[in-house]
Amino acid sequence: MQNSEHPKYAFFEGRITEISRAKVDIRTNALQYGTAIFEGIRSYWSQKDGCNYVFRMHDHYKRLHKNSNIMMIDIKYDIEKLCSITLELIKKENYTEDAYIRPFAYNSGLKIGPKLTGIEQDLFIYSQPLGQYLDLDKPIDVCVSSWARIPDNCIPPRAKIAGSYVNSAIQKTEALLNGFDEAIVLDSNGQHISEGSAMNIFMVKDGMLFTPPVNDDILEGITRDTVIRIAADKLGIDTKQRSIDRTELYTADELFFCGTGAQVCSIGSVDRRKIGEGTTGAVTASIQELYFKVVKNEVKEYSGWCTKV
Ligand code: PMP
Repeated sequence: MQNSEHPKYAFFEGRITEISRAKVDIRTNALQYGTAIFEGIRSYWSQKDGCNYVFRMHDHYKRLHKNSNIMMIDIKYDIEKLCSITLELIKKENYTEDAYIRPFAYNSGLKIGPKLTGIEQDLFIYSQPLGQYLDLDKPIDVCVSSWARIPDNCIPPRAKIAGSYVNSAIQKTEALLNGFDEAIVLDSNGQHISEGSAMNIFMVKDGMLFTPPVNDDILEGITRDTVIRIAADKLGIDTKQRSIDRTELYTADELFFCGTGAQVCSIGSVDRRKIGEGTTGAVTASIQELYFKVVKNEVKEYSGWCTKV
């Protein structure tokens, strides 16, 4: 539920300003053509420590910088500067709840025409309160979408490109209109699973974890990486990155989504077929529990991922 008090501020046109003053021209190239690349970062409120922690902020900005090359967007702030602006912004908001941070690098010029070069560019950052994005209180019901994931040689899914989220919106909307909570999307050949509309997917089979590789048209998720690492380090469960077929989902022991927004979300059914017992399985439950400790800086060896605001 959006808290009307927040956000109060945004970093816009080079400075922190009131959110009501952060407005773009209707002719903005990124608004017209989706020519922008963005990030989604979470800050977590720790009741225990009485402070907010931003999770894997450096890694998110590293991904933004690397992928901006795909979009030929020249981000004028280095990673350290982006981190310090973000911390200042979150400090000013004074959150006592979990929040989502949206850095957005975009073609800010007003020229007509979809083109990546020869146009002004800029970056803004704002945040907003964000509790659960998907229901974490019970396993969710998902379908395999009739819409395919965009392939790398159309709009590269490994980058968070603004325009590519039309693909996600179409998938998510179809799922919701048909009475599901979320969609699982196949690649454009219809051969393999890629991911959810805005989250990566993991399958548990015979005590092993499986997830699609980075060349199966997925976003190279930071939560995906977190899950792979904490499952190996703390639970002794290795992840095999390999292509996954649709019917492997139906015969999985457990399935879950993960993402900055989605966090770790258990899947109870796919295409009305119950997964396992239809309840949250033991491996998913352990990863979920560990994940929420890690993001709130309660597991010492991962404290380097949590930046205190
Ligand atoms: N896939 C897509 C399409 C996404 O939008 C997201 C959310 N950023 C993810 C996967 C998960 O990525 P991350 O864990 O880095 O948030």
